[in-house]
Amino acid sequence: MPVFRYEDTEGDPLQTNLEPIEPPPLMEVAKAWGLRVRYMGRTSPYLGLYRHRFEDHPAEILLATHEEQVFFHELAHAAQWRVWTDPDNCNKLRLEVTAELASCVLARLYGRQDPNEGSTYEYICHYCEQERKDLPRTLWALVSDTEKLLRAIIDTQETLAREEVHA
Ligand SMILES: [Zn+2]
Repeated sequence: MPVFRYEDTEGDPLQTNLEPIEPPPLMEVAKAWGLRVRYMGRTSPYLGLYRHRFEDHPAEILLATHEEQVFFHELAHAAQWRVWTDPDNCNKLRLEVTAELASCVLARLYGRQDPNEGSTYEYICHYCEQERKDLPRTLWALVSDTEKLLRAIIDTQETLAREEVHA
């Protein structure tokens, strides 16, 4: 819990490198897509954030947690910009449900931590309730969109792994 502003404190500089000792799985995919990934202190209400590039800022993923599934969720948002024609004009329900579903599958496939499926369920329910949508129908309608995101991520990962074998 932050009490003082960092700028108002004195003494030896704080250890400000918040990166995990080992990067999460699929970090190579983010790098291959030219994303900047930064670990930050908890300054925003978000645990993770994907920001698409604008002007001369590169696309980036901001993380306030080492939880792999949060990174996978943001990576799935990045995939939306590679796979869909116009994510900016998609509704929030489609953006969030597909990102969260994809992250849950990625946690099963690549995660080193236990997939947090309970929180995935709650997250998706929350968006369905907010938009007054039926849960099973929403999931069914978004399965194929989610698969495209997964394919983009997994194909990149597999290509990188093959290149590593041949290098
Ligand atoms: Zn999201």
